[in-house]
Amino acid sequence: MADAATIANTMTVAVGPVILMGPPGAGKGTQAKRIMARYGVPQISTGDILREHVRKVTELGCKARSYMDRGQLVPDDLVCDMVAERLSRPDCKRGFVLDGFPRTVAQAEWLDQYLEGKLFENNGLKRIPLVVIKINVSYNSLLRRLAGRRSCPTCGRIYNVYFQPPRVADLCDVDGSLLTTRRDDCEEVVSERLKEYEQETLPVVEYYRAKGQLHEIDGERPMEAVTAEALGIIENGNRL
Ligand code: AMP
Repeated sequence: MADAATIANTMTVAVGPVILMGPPGAGKGTQAKRIMARYGVPQISTGDILREHVRKVTELGCKARSYMDRGQLVPDDLVCDMVAERLSRPDCKRGFVLDGFPRTVAQAEWLDQYLEGKLFENNGLKRIPLVVIKINVSYNSLLRRLAGRRSCPTCGRIYNVYFQPPRVADLCDVDGSLLTTRRDDCEEVVSERLKEYEQETLPVVEYYRAKGQLHEIDGERPMEAVTAEALGIIENGNRL
């Protein structure tokens, strides 16, 4: 258990830009939330932001919905504009964790340009290199994780009916809300999402590998072990 001084210290760690990669169901959202809790930097999940637009029936939500319902990627220009707006907010000044972005090489190139020359708060301003962490999970585990995934519409906490069930069936442990299943976690849409991942996003993994920015971790281990390794990668070289 971390003591108060350690926790206070982690709130001043200059985290910089962190990308969590991996196929749908690898645990990016869960790990991003744990990193956010540890360092106090925001989790930026493009999937969550898009789902919020769909729910509120915004112009972007209306354009994105048909792609999302089919398990296909939303066009790059729409997603990049949305990410630019989010990254410009003040809570990103010490760093942020991107979860689900970039998903195409064009998005990765856009992000490199966006980050060019960007400085992050660190008792003054500092250039902090991008850290890319890919969570590896086997195909069979992914299918089970996606089929069992439930989430709380109020606080965003993620459960799994097989591995991490709520204390009371179908209800969030934190706020008692009725847990929901994502519309795109049904079987046909899952296979389309995995296909999109292989075709569009695996080249992004190779893009970062070629630049020497990629770290891979084994996501089949207990959640705590995966988090500990991710935190180690983030802090290695990024500590004050
Ligand atoms: P996720 O919650 O990350 O699995 O994303 C759900 C859906 O949102 C995806 O299947 C895509 O339709 C869309 N989406 C999320 N992030 C992106 C992105 N970076 N580029 C394009 N589409 C995205």
